[in-house]
Amino acid sequence: MKNLPTSEKMRIGIDLGGTKIEVVVVDQLGQIALRQRVATDAHLGVEHIFNRIKQLYQLAVVSVAGQEHTLGIGTPGSISLKTGLLKNSNTVSLNGVALQQILEEHLQHACQIENDANCFAFAEATLGAGQDHDCVFGVIMGTGCGGGLVINQQIRIGPQRLSGEWGHMTIDPNGPLCFCGKRGCVETFISGSGLERMFLEKAARPLCAQDIFQLAAQGDPNAALILDHFYDQFGRALSNLIHLLDPDVIVLGGGLSNQEAIYQRGIDAVQKHLFSDELTTPIIKNHLGDSAGVIGAAFIGV
Ligand SMILES: [Zn+2]
Repeated sequence: MKNLPTSEKMRIGIDLGGTKIEVVVVDQLGQIALRQRVATDAHLGVEHIFNRIKQLYQLAVVSVAGQEHTLGIGTPGSISLKTGLLKNSNTVSLNGVALQQILEEHLQHACQIENDANCFAFAEATLGAGQDHDCVFGVIMGTGCGGGLVINQQIRIGPQRLSGEWGHMTIDPNGPLCFCGKRGCVETFISGSGLERMFLEKAARPLCAQDIFQLAAQGDPNAALILDHFYDQFGRALSNLIHLLDPDVIVLGGGLSNQEAIYQRGIDAVQKHLFSDELTTPIIKNHLGDSAGVIGAAFIGV
């Protein structure tokens, strides 16, 4: 990773994930001064989440030692322009919550809230795997599936804040019900939770996504079948994306992006579904690891 840009103020970024919350402090010289993450459980409710955020923010404030700082927060979903409340988050307990107002009251500091996949895409487009390209699409395949579009190092947000929300494009109208209310969204297949659901339905036992890949590599027929389906849907979904945007590069992030087989079988599947005689779009792994989102959050702060 190249040095992060310098700035006049310290920068604090917080990333709200489905199972963890992370904070990072970037100092004026662009050095990471603190990075800390805590586990969280969305089922314990919004107060639990707010307390975890406050706990991490206070740690960060101690580390900036009273210096002026900016604060950016990445979260699934986005703030509705109509209501000012959070919408579209797969941490569904936060939907309909006045997230910005509550956090600013809890933390006693102004904050900029941005979609977590946009934060990821921004960090990778400016500092990571996409930094030599004008049009970068970032894909997060973690608990859920998100996306972000960055053009000339600017996040494309869109008038409805929907840009990049490819996780809720339908690829099978008869597919499984998604938390968003529709059926067969990309997220119900191309995500850790999607893989785990498909395996449970097939093998009648629970297994985490990482173990499904491992089992398939050992020759387990159920796991192999699930992965065949996963790659086919990955190819269908990403080829749709390329048909629409033809981005210069697609950068993959989230837990599933660590599965090296994706960069062979997944890309082959994209080629199969693509309306072209060749696939030249680089589909590559992120450079900033699983901190890309939180670093992006730090850089969009106010
Ligand atoms: Zn959906």
